[in-house]
Amino acid sequence: MLDEFMQSPAYVMACQQFDRVADILDIGQSERIRTKMPKRAMIVSVPTRMDDGHTEMFTGYRVQHHLSVGPTKGGLRYHPDVTLGEVAALAMWMSWKCSLCGLPYGGAKGGVTCDPRKMSRGELERMTRRFTQEMIPFIGPHVDVMAPDLGTNEQIMAWMMDTYSMHEGNPVPQIVTGKPVALGGSAGRKEATGRGVAYLVNRTLDNLNMKSEGTRVVVQGFGNVGSITAQQLHRFGARIIGVSDYTGGIHNPQGLDVNKLIDHTTRHGSLEGFVDGCETITNDELLQLECEVLIPAALERQITEKNVGKIRCRVLAEAANGPTTIEADSVLRQRDDIFLIPDVLCNAGGVIVSYFEWVQDLQSFFWTEAEVNDKLYRQLELAYQQVLQMAKKQKLYMRDAALALGISKIAQAKQVRGLFP
Ligand code: NAD
Repeated sequence: MLDEFMQSPAYVMACQQFDRVADILDIGQSERIRTKMPKRAMIVSVPTRMDDGHTEMFTGYRVQHHLSVGPTKGGLRYHPDVTLGEVAALAMWMSWKCSLCGLPYGGAKGGVTCDPRKMSRGELERMTRRFTQEMIPFIGPHVDVMAPDLGTNEQIMAWMMDTYSMHEGNPVPQIVTGKPVALGGSAGRKEATGRGVAYLVNRTLDNLNMKSEGTRVVVQGFGNVGSITAQQLHRFGARIIGVSDYTGGIHNPQGLDVNKLIDHTTRHGSLEGFVDGCETITNDELLQLECEVLIPAALERQITEKNVGKIRCRVLAEAANGPTTIEADSVLRQRDDIFLIPDVLCNAGGVIVSYFEWVQDLQSFFWTEAEVNDKLYRQLELAYQQVLQMAKKQKLYMRDAALALGISKIAQAKQVRGLFP
């Protein structure tokens, strides 16, 4: 099992990224191993009564990468391909992201291997509650705080909060973030990741002396992150010429009506069947469309050595976590025609507002959406400027600069805390 985990492609990719940056930063062997290895990795069985009466045994995972500066923080994903190795890689990326953005958290990630689209609401609720129950010894508002990710949403967070609160005997809203506002969720959290992606895309277009108006944008994945990003950029005047989800893609060079697309996916659960003057294309074709901004907002490892040479964009904004393989990345870093906004920076809006939600819950003092957005943009801007400066000063690729900033702060924290005992 441990071998399988260490050899999973996502985990190998996260470790290779770390090693490259640890070399750049010249981190000593002792700090290197402490900074890289996950603190805890849990595997739990999640027996769930299905609607037809039989019991299905799901497997759940949680990896807490480091607890050196505060609780761990990270999403929970429901997807058929979830593995311990993938979750461990995502937990590492969360660590670098939180550190880069100055948040007092280590990274974590969790997941249950299941297909939420094939499960009823009752089955999802029972599985979520049982998973939360199995996690109770390992989580807490000052230990590990979960949030939505691929395949999970506000409702799943509400069931988790309820299960944990029933166990404690009093409401504990700060146990999860990304929950409904009615339960202590933050205004603007649902939109935060997409809003952050759109903000950074606009800042980058400014820096490159390009205009947002009429900019051609392609988005892979039309869930929470992809749809909000598309909606925000559409509002700024960009032309969304292609989008896709697990059912395939659609393309209209004149621009798609994003609000109609959101209506359609809300009613039908996917983009399938959307016809409004557009042609259907495959996900592969979508990634190769000529555009100014390409935004992978679905799964990991979508930009590979096979398609990286065919990508035709000026800005690659990694809204998904780990969308570019190591092999593709080594090609990308040679391509001066593409400006990269790396995942740990690009999608950080989500965890920044999750942090705001946790702070609001701990204080029982809530902010308006305008306050949340204002603070979000300030925090993102600071991280963006730091990465740009580091990249410029040290002549680094944007991904290396972002990771170096995140990793160096954690290595330093570990060093000054010392090794126990
Ligand atoms: P989601 O479940 O809401 O949406 C995922 C979308 O991807 C759906 O439209 C789905 O159909 C599509 N998809 C799935 N498989 C696909 C495939 N093979 N090809 C094309 N599209 C496919 O998930 P989300 O919350 O929007 O997360 C998307 C990505 O953003 C993930 O990588 C996640 O880790 C990352 N992310 C999410 C958040 C957040 O706040 N939700 C924060 C940071 C990063």
